[in-house]
Amino acid sequence: MSEHLTCDVLVVGLGPGGSTAARFAAEAGARVIAIDKRAEIGTPVQCAEAVSEGILAHLGLSAPKDRWITWKVAHVRLVSPSNIVVNLDDERVSKMKFGYVLDRKVFDKDLATMAADAGAELRLKTRFVSGERLEGGLVRAHARHFGQDVVIDAKVIIAADGVASRVGPYFGVKTVVPLKHMESCVQYEMTNVSLDGAIEFYFGKDVAPGGYVWVFPKGESKANVGIGIIPSLTDRHAKDYLDAFLASDRMKGARVVEINAGGVPVCRPLKETFADNLLLVGDAARVVNPLTGGGIATAIESGKYAGMAAAKAVAEGRTDRAALAAYQDEWQASFGKRLELFYKAQQVLTSMSDAELDDAATALGKCGFESISELELLKAVAKTNMKLLLKFRTFLT
Ligand SMILES: Cc1cc2nc3c(=O)[nH]c(=O)nc-3n(C[C@H](O)[C@H](O)[C@H](O)COP(=O)(O)OP(=O)(O)OC[C@H]3O[C@@H](n4cnc5c(N)ncnc54)[C@H](O)[C@@H]3O)c2cc1C
Repeated sequence: MSEHLTCDVLVVGLGPGGSTAARFAAEAGARVIAIDKRAEIGTPVQCAEAVSEGILAHLGLSAPKDRWITWKVAHVRLVSPSNIVVNLDDERVSKMKFGYVLDRKVFDKDLATMAADAGAELRLKTRFVSGERLEGGLVRAHARHFGQDVVIDAKVIIAADGVASRVGPYFGVKTVVPLKHMESCVQYEMTNVSLDGAIEFYFGKDVAPGGYVWVFPKGESKANVGIGIIPSLTDRHAKDYLDAFLASDRMKGARVVEINAGGVPVCRPLKETFADNLLLVGDAARVVNPLTGGGIATAIESGKYAGMAAAKAVAEGRTDRAALAAYQDEWQASFGKRLELFYKAQQVLTSMSDAELDDAATALGKCGFESISELELLKAVAKTNMKLLLKFRTFLT
C-alpha cells in the first residue's frame, strides 16, 4: 500500500533548520508537509548544545523558554597546549552577553511543535528515499513510513536533512562533503564533573588535532564533554583523543551517561543553496561556522529565510531557480561574510603549531574585551602577535 500526498512546500528534516523553515513557510500561508526519519524530534542528540543569545531574534523571541536552558554561560575558559589558561569572564569582558547550553531534546521538539502550531503537517518516522522532477514544475519525493511507500508532490522542496543530506543530488545539487572538510566529533554526556560554571576549550596537536576538546556545563556537576578533530591530520580516532582527555586529572571521578558522535562540515557553504524548486538550509547547505563547528544559529536563520522564500515563490506562482535565488542573497547578506572569515581563520588555526597556540593564549591573557565573540578573539590574537598578524592581515581589516 502507498500513500500519495500533495503540498506547496515539503521540508525534509526537522532539526533546527527544517522546523524553522516549516514554521515560517506555514506562517506565510503555504501548505507545508515536513518529514523526519526519527520517531522523536531532538533524539538522539548529536550536539554540544551551545548557542549565543543571537538565535532568539530569529525565532521572534526576546527571551529563551526556561525549559530549553541547562546552563547560562558568562565565563569562557581557553586552555593552550602548555596549559596556559585564559579566563574570559565579567572581569575581563566589559559588555558580557550570555550564551546558553541548551537541552536540544526539548529545544528541537519545541521548534517542531512551533511549526505544527503554525499549520505544518509533521510526519515522523518518514524517511526521504529519493526524488524526481515532474512535468509542470513540481517535484516528487519518495519516502518510507513503517515499511510503506509515501509519495509526496510539492512545488518547493527544502533540504534540511543535515550534514549527510541526500535530497540535493536528486535535484541537481551535489552535497557530499569532502572528507578533508569533515570534522569528526565524539561526545560524552557526563556526571560527577568538577565545574565552576565556565565553558572550557582545550587546544593542541596532542589534545585535538585541527579542533578542540570542550567541556560545557549542563548543571552543577553534569557536562557535555566532547571533541572535534580533522581526521586527515592524524591516524588516530577522535574517541582515542577524547578518552585520553578523560584519563587526565581534569576529569577525575567523572562518569559517562550518554555517548554520541557525528560529523561537522568545516568548509565553505555550498556555492548555490538553491535550484529549480529546491532550497537547502543548515548543515545540508553547509552554512556552519567552520571555526567552532557551531551550526544551530545558522540553521535557524537560513531555515527562516528559506521558509519565507518558498512561501513567497509559491504565492507568486514561480518556483524556478531565478525566483528562489533571493534566498541565498538574504543569508549571504546576513552572515555570509562572517562564515568566509571564519573559514579562513580555521585554515590558519589548523596550521598553527602548539608553540603558536601558546603564544596566542599568552596574548589573549593580556587584553580586555568588549564582548566574547570569535571575531574579537581573532583580532586580539592577531594584534598582539606579529607572526599571526601577518597570517591574518588579509582578512581581519
Ligand atoms: C558532536 C557535535 C557537537 C556539536 N555542537 C554544537 C554546538 O555546541 N553548537 C552549535 O551551534 N552546533 C553544534 N553542532 C552542529 C549542530 O548540531 C548542527 O549544525 C545543527 O544541528 C544543524 O541543524 P540542521 O537543522 O541543519 O540539521 P540537523 O540538526 O542535523 O537535522 C537534520 C534532520 O534531518 C533528519 N533527516 C536526515 N536524513 C533524513 C531523511 N533521509 N529523511 C528524513 N529525515 C532525515 C534527521 O533525522 C534530523 O532530524 C555540533 C555537531 C556535532 C556532531
